[in-house]
Amino acid sequence: YAKNNGKNAYRLFTPDMQDDAEKRFVLDNNLRRALERNEFLLHYQPQVDLHSGAIIGAEALIRWRHPELGLISPADFIPLAEESGLIVPIGAWVLREACRELGRWHAAGHPVRMAINLSGRQLQEPGMVASVLSILDEAGIEAQAIVLELTESMLMDASSATIECLHLLKRAGIELALDDFGTGYSSMSYLKTLPIGSLKIDRSFVRDLPGDAEDAAITKAIIAMARSLRMNVVAEGIETEEQGRFLRENGCDKAQGYFYGRPLPGVQMRQLLDQARSASVV
Ligand code: C2E
Ligand code: MG
Ligand code: MG
Repeated sequence: YAKNNGKNAYRLFTPDMQDDAEKRFVLDNNLRRALERNEFLLHYQPQVDLHSGAIIGAEALIRWRHPELGLISPADFIPLAEESGLIVPIGAWVLREACRELGRWHAAGHPVRMAINLSGRQLQEPGMVASVLSILDEAGIEAQAIVLELTESMLMDASSATIECLHLLKRAGIELALDDFGTGYSSMSYLKTLPIGSLKIDRSFVRDLPGDAEDAAITKAIIAMARSLRMNVVAEGIETEEQGRFLRENGCDKAQGYFYGRPLPGVQMRQLLDQARSASVV
């Protein structure tokens, strides 16, 4: 690793590593080892009921604790893991770890749900559905207790095998959510053919609420559409009380954002659940 001249920050690559293939090779090897060395961990960000304020669930978010670089954000390694295919074993680890953690919360008397991000590559794995069901079984939790988050871009070029996988997950009782909703290019007529149970309003639409008239119109339209299609709707990236109030007053029932809680290590999330009154949603 190269230390930036003078600056107290590391870079993953030396300046002379111009070759993309070489960079990828170095990072891939690091990622591969990271799984073996148990360097990944999950943080959990609370999701709240906008009316009662109760914690109704959490989203599991991966981090990489690099021995020299410290905590690395998923934005910096998930795209590479997707390219190399390493996202498949990493994603399986995330599923197992998040479900185990949820099992602990349930055992402690917190009947909340866990949202888990998926990559397109995971949906192409032949044994995907069976593996999810065995992970749930192992953790002793019900299918209804997890929500799997997908993105529009994952669905745009979905193969028939991927679509089949989504239907099987739905049939097993697992809710599917469309993450970052509104930022993709998928058509409504296509989306309506998919077994999607909830929409997550992308935080780019929430950021300038309630002042920005266009964002206000967009979020209201997404909420109205979700409700009339009988989908759940969760707003992402709520940082202020005003944003939360606007969403609640316009019919959004659930939210997630720094205003309600930042992503936390499992131990702290458990403490938060113990302190807070959690609504029964499972
Ligand atoms: P995402 O699934 O849309 O997750 C929400 C991201 O927004 C998280 O970033 C979260 O920390 C951040 N966030 C939450 N509330 C606020 C807020 O109020 N303000 C702002 N500015 N940001 C907020 P994070 O943890 O860095 O994750 C980034 C992305 O990485 C995720 O976006 C998701 O697409 C991906 N990711 C994270 N964990 C996994 C995983 O286990 N598997 C896969 N395939 N992707 C993951
Ligand atoms: Mg997500
Ligand atoms: Mg999102």
